[in-house]
Amino acid sequence: MDIPFNKPYLTGRETEGLERAFKNLRFAGDGPFTHECARTLEKFLGCRRALLTTSCTHALEMAALLLDIKAGDEVIVPSFTFVSTVNAFVLRGATPVFIDVRPDTLNFDERQFESLITARTRAAIPVHYAGVGCEMDSISEIADRRGVAVVEDNAHGLAGKYRGKWLGTLGSLATLSFHETKNISCGEGGALLVNRPEFMQRAEIIREKGTNRGRFFRGEVDKYTWVDVGSSFVLGDLLAVFLLAQLEEMESVQARRRALWEHYFAGLRDLAAKQGLGLPVVPAHCEQAYHMFYLMTHSLAERTALINHLKKRSIGAVFHYVPLHLSEMGMRLGGRPGQCPVTEDISDRLLRLPFFNALTHPEQDRVMAEIHAFYGT
Ligand SMILES: *Cc1c(COP(=O)(O)O)cnc(C)c1O
Repeated sequence: MDIPFNKPYLTGRETEGLERAFKNLRFAGDGPFTHECARTLEKFLGCRRALLTTSCTHALEMAALLLDIKAGDEVIVPSFTFVSTVNAFVLRGATPVFIDVRPDTLNFDERQFESLITARTRAAIPVHYAGVGCEMDSISEIADRRGVAVVEDNAHGLAGKYRGKWLGTLGSLATLSFHETKNISCGEGGALLVNRPEFMQRAEIIREKGTNRGRFFRGEVDKYTWVDVGSSFVLGDLLAVFLLAQLEEMESVQARRRALWEHYFAGLRDLAAKQGLGLPVVPAHCEQAYHMFYLMTHSLAERTALINHLKKRSIGAVFHYVPLHLSEMGMRLGGRPGQCPVTEDISDRLLRLPFFNALTHPEQDRVMAEIHAFYGT
C-alpha cells in the first residue's frame, strides 16, 4: 500500500529512553518509566489513579473483577464495538445486553439505556466511538439512580472532552488502549483509570496478581502476601519507556491529528452533501480526540466497490466493527437479528479512511481525489 490505513508512529525519542532503561537494568513492570507514565496521565487527566496495564482488554478485565461481576449478572454494552468491551465481562459469566448506537455519533444510545435495565443489571460500558463523547450526563444520571456502575471504554478517546471534562474521568472506572492503532501507542498496552476512591486499593491488588505488593513497596506493610484474586496485568517497563516518549508528545500528536481530520472534512464536505454521504458528527459540547475519519456510504455494495477502487490505487481504507450481537459468540449469548437496527445498518456502510500521525496533506489529497473519481466528480 502506498497509503496504508495505519502506520505506527515514532516520536524519535523512544531510542534515547530505551538506552537509559538498558543502563538502569530495570525491565519489570512498575519500574521508573511505568511510574512516570502513570503520573503523566494522572496529571494530564486529573484522575485519581492511572494504572498502566498490558492492554485495554486487560484493563476491562480488571474492571469486571473490581465490580465483582459474576454469573447471571447483566452488563449493558454496545454491539458496535471491539470484542474486548464485552468479552471482559463475559469471562466473569455475565450476560451481555446489547444496546444500539445513536445514528449520529454511533455512540451508546442513552435514550434506550433505562429500558434495558433489569434487577440483574450491574454495569454499563459506553464506548466513546472515534473519540467523540457519549451522552455521559444522561448515562450517569440513569446509572446512579438505578445503581448501575459505569465503565468508560475510552480506547479511542484519550484527550477528548465531554462538556469540558476529560473522557475517562466520567465513569467509576475507565480504560485506555495504547495499541499500535491508537493515537498514542507502545505496540500493546493500556491503562485502567480509577475515578472512585473505593476501588483504589483493590485495583492495585488485582493488577499485582492478587498481592499487596504495592503497599509493601511503599512500606505500609512489612511483608507482601496473597490477599485477593488477581492476575498479571502490569505493563513492562521497556514498553513504558516507549509509551512515555509518546505521552510527552501528546499535544503535538493531537494537533497533528486535528489538522488531518479537518483537512479530510473540508475536502469531502461538498462531495458528501452532493452525494448524500455521511461524515462524522461531533456535537458542539464534545471535543473529539481525533481518533479516526470515516465516510458513511449508502450501501454495503457501494462500500465494497469503494474499498476495492482505493485498494487498486494502493490506498488502504477499511470497514470497522461487525455487530457483536450477530457474531457467532454473540448469537450464542442471545443476540438476534433486528436487535440493534442502527448498528446492523451502519456497520455495513461505514468506511474508515487512512488516518495516522505521520499522514501528510498531499497523501490525503490523493485519497480524496480517488474518492471524488469514484463518484465521478
Ligand atoms: C482497541 C480497542 C480495545 C482493545 O484494546 P487493546 O489495548 O488492544 O486490548 C477495546 N475497546 C475498543 C473500543 C478499542 O478500540
